[in-house]
Amino acid sequence: MSKLRSVRRGAGGGAGDDLRSAVHFSESGQIWLHEHRMLLVHAEAQASLRRELIDTLGMTRAQGLFTRMGYASGVRDAELGRQRAQELTDLDAFMTGPQLHTLEGMVQVSRVKLELDRLAGRFHGEFVWESSWEGQWHRHYYGIHEEPVCWTQIGYVSGYASAFMGRPILFQETECSGSGDALIAWHVMREACRQQARWRAGLLAPRWVGVPVAREWLLDGQFVDTWAIVLATSGLAAADVELIFKETN
Ligand SMILES: [Zn+2]
Repeated sequence: MSKLRSVRRGAGGGAGDDLRSAVHFSESGQIWLHEHRMLLVHAEAQASLRRELIDTLGMTRAQGLFTRMGYASGVRDAELGRQRAQELTDLDAFMTGPQLHTLEGMVQVSRVKLELDRLAGRFHGEFVWESSWEGQWHRHYYGIHEEPVCWTQIGYVSGYASAFMGRPILFQETECSGSGDALIAWHVMREACRQQARWRAGLLAPRWVGVPVAREWLLDGQFVDTWAIVLATSGLAAADVELIFKETN
């Protein structure tokens, strides 16, 4: 899992349309997403290519290469986002990118905060990535890295946002599973909320959910923000869940 946010200040809405209908498999062996030809490739093969390039070029040059590659993909997908802006609000149209990023199998994107004004050029976005193929395979081949490693993906979102907004927008990956940020607090609290939601759907909701909280969660200064994000993305209200704090080692 990764957390990322736009570097520029400029934050929340979302599009709910199903973009899968924009994917077409032609009888002539071509796959189309909107007006762009796509490839359905094996993630493992892609990860092998990534590994060979890292081993050949070195980590820094490979990072630049993959970031530019992701950037180019994001710029292409922004064409559809900008087109949809004619029918949707700018916030909903922007969410075309994160939805396509998920549809293309790169990563599951959850919006944390999104504010934008295309005319004024103001933008601020924060998202959480889950199931990042790049973070997963980087860790598989190289173990824990000292910095975030989802290079293609950070390029994608930067390219998408820049093309959508018509001005340079850079994103920064602030936490990454590939760099050892396990985001354990996020996982535990999110699973508690999901369980509560399942119980509620079955009319079996308990009055509260107890989550054991490690001491370091409280010391990193982001615990409250993390909890607010988990609640916002789970669809539960603060009053729907009670946390029980226990000190653990
Ligand atoms: Zn990452």
